[in-house]
Amino acid sequence: MLKVLNHKSFDKNQLLLRASERRDAGWGKTVTYSRKVFVPLTNMCRDTCSYCTFVKHPNSKSARILDPDSVMEIVRLGERSGCKEVLLSLGEKPELRYERARDELRKLGFSTMVGYLKFICEMILRESTLLPHVNAGTLSEDEILGLKPVTASMGMMLENVSRRLTKKGMPHFACPDKVPVQRIRTMNNMGILKVPFTTGILIGIGESWDERIETLNAIDDSHKKYNHIQEVIVQNFVPKPDIRMWDFPEPDQEEMLITIALARLILSPEISIQSPPNLSQSHVNYLDAGLNDWGGISPVTDDHINPEKAWPKIEELRKSTKSKGFRLQERLTVYPRFQNKKDDFLSPNIAKHVASLKRQDGLARKQFF
Ligand code: SF4
Repeated sequence: MLKVLNHKSFDKNQLLLRASERRDAGWGKTVTYSRKVFVPLTNMCRDTCSYCTFVKHPNSKSARILDPDSVMEIVRLGERSGCKEVLLSLGEKPELRYERARDELRKLGFSTMVGYLKFICEMILRESTLLPHVNAGTLSEDEILGLKPVTASMGMMLENVSRRLTKKGMPHFACPDKVPVQRIRTMNNMGILKVPFTTGILIGIGESWDERIETLNAIDDSHKKYNHIQEVIVQNFVPKPDIRMWDFPEPDQEEMLITIALARLILSPEISIQSPPNLSQSHVNYLDAGLNDWGGISPVTDDHINPEKAWPKIEELRKSTKSKGFRLQERLTVYPRFQNKKDDFLSPNIAKHVASLKRQDGLARKQFF
C-alpha cells in the first residue's frame, strides 16, 4: 500500500467544519453515553497483539476466568449505581491454545469461552435489570446465533483492514483473530443475523492514513448492505511501559481530530461516532470534529483495557460537554433505531428488558434517524 496521505494532506479547519455540520444535522446538540459496568470475563487470549496489556499469559498469577459469583457481584454494584449496561469483554478463544483455560472452563462446566459467555448473559438477564453487551472478538455464525437471544448488542473493534499489520514485526503478527478477512466476516455476519453492532478503528498502531480511510470505507460498505452498525469508536493507541510497542508515539490531538472528522464524513450519518473520553485529557475538543457519543462510562468499575486511565465523573463530563454547547444524555447500549420489535434486531426477552428500562426517566428516547 502506498502511503500517499499524511495529516498535512487535509485542510483541518474545513474538515472539522463539515463534520460538525453533518453531526448537527443528524444528531443535533445531544451527546450520549451509556452508564455501564465492565466485566473482564477472561483476560486470557490466544492472540498476542503488541499493544495489549489486558491479555495475561496463563502462567501469570493474574490470568483468570471470572466465576459466576464474581460476575454477579459486579452486576449488582452496577444496578445499585444506576447502570443499565454490562460490558462483557474477553480475550479470544484462549481454550484453543492453553491447557489452563481449558481446565478452568471444565471446572465451570463448559468446553468453550463462548458457551460460558452465553450462560453468564442468561444469568445476568435472569437475575438483574442490566443489558449485556458482549465484546468477544471474532465469532462464527453459530456463535452469533447462540448469543443473540441473550445480548442487547455486540461489539468487535475492526481496528484496521491492513494485512500489512499482520506481518512479522507488526502489531498483529501471529494473531489469528486479527487477520482482516476474519474480522470483516464477523462484521458482515453480525449484519446478516441482525445484531445491533459496535465496531471501531484503532489509531496509531503503524497504519497509514490510506489504510485508516480504507477501514472506514469497509465499515460503511458493510453497514450499507445490512444496516446494523450502531456506532464506530475512534480509539487512540496508548503507549505503556509493559507492552512491546512501549516506544511507539501516541497519536496527537490533531491526528485524532482529523480521524474523527473523516469518520463522520465517510460513515453513513446514522452511525454514531464515539471516542473514549478517558484516553485523552482534551477529549472535549472531539466535539469540534463531529463526535456525538462518549460510549460506555462506568461510575464504579475500571476501564480494564486501560486501567490507568480513569473515566471522567459523569457530572464533570456533563459540564465539559455543556461548555461546548451540547447536552449530555444517557442512552441504552442498544440505540433507539434498533429497538423496534418488528425489525428483528432484538430477541423477545431482550425487548422486554429494554421496554422496562425505557420506563425509567432520563434516557435518550429520540429516534435521531
Ligand atoms: S485480541 Fe484483544 S485481548 Fe487478545 S491480545 Fe489482541 S487486543 Fe488483547
